[in-house]
Amino acid sequence: MARTDPHSCFDDLQPRASRWHLRLLVDFESRILAGEVTLVFPRPASGVLDLDSKGLTIHRAWVSATGAGLPFELGPEEPILGRRLRLTLPADTHGVTIAYETSPDAAGLQWLEPAQTEGGRQPFLFSQCQAIHARSLVPCQDSAVARVGYDADVVVPEGLRAVMSAGPMGDEPGPMPGTRVFHFRMPQPIPSYLLALAVGDLESRELSPRSRVWAEPATVERAAWEFAGVETMIGAAEQLFGPYDWERFDMLVLPPSFPYGGMENPRMTFLTPTLLAGDRSLVDVVAHELAHSWTGNLVTNATAEHFWLNEGFTVWAERRILRELHGEEACAAAWAIGQNALDESLERFRAEPELTLLRTRLEGIDPDEAFSSIPYEKGARLVAVLEQAVGEAAFQDLLRAYMGRFRFTSITTEQFCAFVEERFPGLLRRVDADSWLHQPGMPGNAPVFRSGRLDRLTALARGWERGERPDAGQVEDWSPGELLVYLQNLPRALPLDDCAWLDRKLGLTARGNHELLVEWLCIAAASGYAPAFGRIREVLARVGRMKYLRPLYAALGRHADTRRLAREVFVAAAPGYHSLSRRAVLAELEKYPD
Ligand SMILES: [Zn+2]
Repeated sequence: MARTDPHSCFDDLQPRASRWHLRLLVDFESRILAGEVTLVFPRPASGVLDLDSKGLTIHRAWVSATGAGLPFELGPEEPILGRRLRLTLPADTHGVTIAYETSPDAAGLQWLEPAQTEGGRQPFLFSQCQAIHARSLVPCQDSAVARVGYDADVVVPEGLRAVMSAGPMGDEPGPMPGTRVFHFRMPQPIPSYLLALAVGDLESRELSPRSRVWAEPATVERAAWEFAGVETMIGAAEQLFGPYDWERFDMLVLPPSFPYGGMENPRMTFLTPTLLAGDRSLVDVVAHELAHSWTGNLVTNATAEHFWLNEGFTVWAERRILRELHGEEACAAAWAIGQNALDESLERFRAEPELTLLRTRLEGIDPDEAFSSIPYEKGARLVAVLEQAVGEAAFQDLLRAYMGRFRFTSITTEQFCAFVEERFPGLLRRVDADSWLHQPGMPGNAPVFRSGRLDRLTALARGWERGERPDAGQVEDWSPGELLVYLQNLPRALPLDDCAWLDRKLGLTARGNHELLVEWLCIAAASGYAPAFGRIREVLARVGRMKYLRPLYAALGRHADTRRLAREVFVAAAPGYHSLSRRAVLAELEKYPD
């Protein structure tokens, strides 16, 4: 037996499915997906087949071609991994079909009441399978190395629309009255964590010949305006990596409870509505998800232990696209904002330095618990160091060759290193890659991204306690990214008069840009600045993005009265949070003193 992934019972000596055929009924009443999956093998298979499952009820399994029943055995529940589903295939099996249903609290699904949507009239469902939640939607080899294409037929209540990380193949009246069935086909092989489904009252707007945005009717116009520049972005990304390989780059703006900024589901990137700042200032998240079309979706981390291969390259690429579109200063501000996130993660893992390595060991560790800015920001800095060592042009060639060699495969850090060594012997040693990959914290040769403008506004922020203040002209001149760097460099708690001054001068509480708004609300919360409490309540009750919930709840922990506020808001808001967000907030609340 050869298990290659600490988070999956996938065994590379067993038959490997190359396609899934999914037939699913979306039942909003009971909050389950019910139906069948057929796992198709590229060549006749036999013997033991171990699948991952979590919270699934398995009804039956049979040989697809003959209908002959197959005995199955569900292993004991393991807290992180779920239950192993073991089938024994007779000789010459081309496919097996499993009838099953998901659990109402499936980790990979969030079911929303109409009241939790923008429109307020229809329910909504969305999936989030990364890192290991695909197994709560479908019994499968839930490891990124076991890539699959898929077809799906999804039956939903009439009036709702389904979208997936796949090409739409039309829709028609469903098998029961009052239903509609949507057909999908994903021809390219993807890791299981890129399976994605959303169902709701959705409309779309065309953005370019290969891109459209989907959202609820109440949001779709704003979304189309915000993301209108997507085609320019795709062009910039193609300059970097080569042609876009997934035909379409469509986006879906989800209701505000979506726990992440974005998820790079191929052909249908999922996005948080907090990006709709009204001034196109937060589209760097779109650049990030787009860059994943190459680094992540085309060349994929083999397991969560190599997550930096996905995220480090993607953050680096996102900033390169940003530089192309908005210039050096915007790029420098993005690196500075990233540095702040990196410093926070290094601090958070002070007692667990092994989680600050790039090449992690996660046996027995939940990937959702290990999630941090380290693979993103430390990873991006390693990519930048490699680029600086060989020069921009040679690095561009290396990137193209990397995409060419490993396209549509899932690789380890060790495979990446062997590839670099082959192209540039000695380079890894020269940049001390060993320290980057296998040592905690930041290596001594970490690159510093500076600009005169940033240095000046950082110095101004750090002079706050000496009474230094920006004048109106300076503030006018700052980009939203620069204003964020300024706020991040202010003291974390301020006297109430200072809070009032800042809020008045910079109009912070009324901001629609959530990066700026939440940075400010963290200062306001830690300072006990009551005029902002209403807005804090509003954000915590509405937005489920973990990036905002974590620091806001942490900042509220500072005073007894704000702790009371936090607990009260959490009790009311928790039922609307995604299970990932709920867990993240509970971890913050546990740190509060009694
Ligand atoms: Zn990413």
